[in-house]
Amino acid sequence: MRTFTTYLPDEAATIAFGSSLARCLAPGLLVYLHGDLGAGKTALTRALLHAGGYVGSVKSPTYALVEHYRLPSALQVVHFDLYRMGSPEEFLDAGLAEEFNGENICIVEWPEQGAGILPQPDWRIYLSVRDDGREVELQACSTQGELCLSRLHFAPNL
Ligand code: ADP
Ligand code: MG
Repeated sequence: MRTFTTYLPDEAATIAFGSSLARCLAPGLLVYLHGDLGAGKTALTRALLHAGGYVGSVKSPTYALVEHYRLPSALQVVHFDLYRMGSPEEFLDAGLAEEFNGENICIVEWPEQGAGILPQPDWRIYLSVRDDGREVELQACSTQGELCLSRLHFAPNL
């Protein structure tokens, strides 16, 4: 399994990292974002969507659970925030399982809440606070994930 780790000293670095990730995307990629509240899961998703050409605000879908974005490249990105999901039934009743259709790029905050119902991801990204910035570890968990990770070019300004 390939992993990539880096340190993001400030929000500008998170934005730069999100842009680098945007260039690695492929249809159907499943990305699970791990980390405490405030770790930067939404900030990274927002950076990725804006770098992918989405113009407009990106808010975490905390209440709706899901938000859809279509990028100019025609990639469909579905952003989940499962923090407030009460039960697996809520996920299934809302039809969220159907979003994992092999075409949508699914980015999931709080995937722990969907244990047992979510498919295996292609990437897991772990974010944590260190000093004034954020530590990142990206793990490729599938062949597709490895292929997309091999396209990553990110040079931090330390
Ligand atoms: P989460 O979705 O994980 O709960 P958010 O993205 O909503 O977290 O919030 C992350 C917070 O951390 C935001 O206030 C953002 O400005 C800040 N932030 C993002 N990246 C960095 C970084 N690399 N260093 C310091 N602060 C950051
Ligand atoms: Mg969030």
